[in-house]
Amino acid sequence: MKTPVNVAGPIYDTPEEAVKARSEKVRGGHVEWSGSPYLKVRGVRYTAKQFSFKEAHGRAPVGRVIATCDHPRCIAGAHHTDAVIRDRRDRRNTTTKAKAAA
Ligand SMILES: [Zn+2]
Repeated sequence: MKTPVNVAGPIYDTPEEAVKARSEKVRGGHVEWSGSPYLKVRGVRYTAKQFSFKEAHGRAPVGRVIATCDHPRCIAGAHHTDAVIRDRRDRRNTTTKAKAAA
């Protein structure tokens, strides 16, 4: 006999609904998330950070979504980077260093 798959938390129709129901804006522009980091919207599992990133940056994240602030459980999209942003930032830093050395 198969064990049913455990789906954490309620199921939402839209990402916006899910994020609104489970997060709270706090001082400093942080958005505190409560509960499981995973959401299920129309059968697809996402993390809250992926949703917030997409809302803030206007596109889906590439690679891992990593926080740039140290506020616990913060999911604010503007406080996270993905591989594209980190790559761009690294390249800019390299260029600045090269110019300084010249
Ligand atoms: Zn934050």
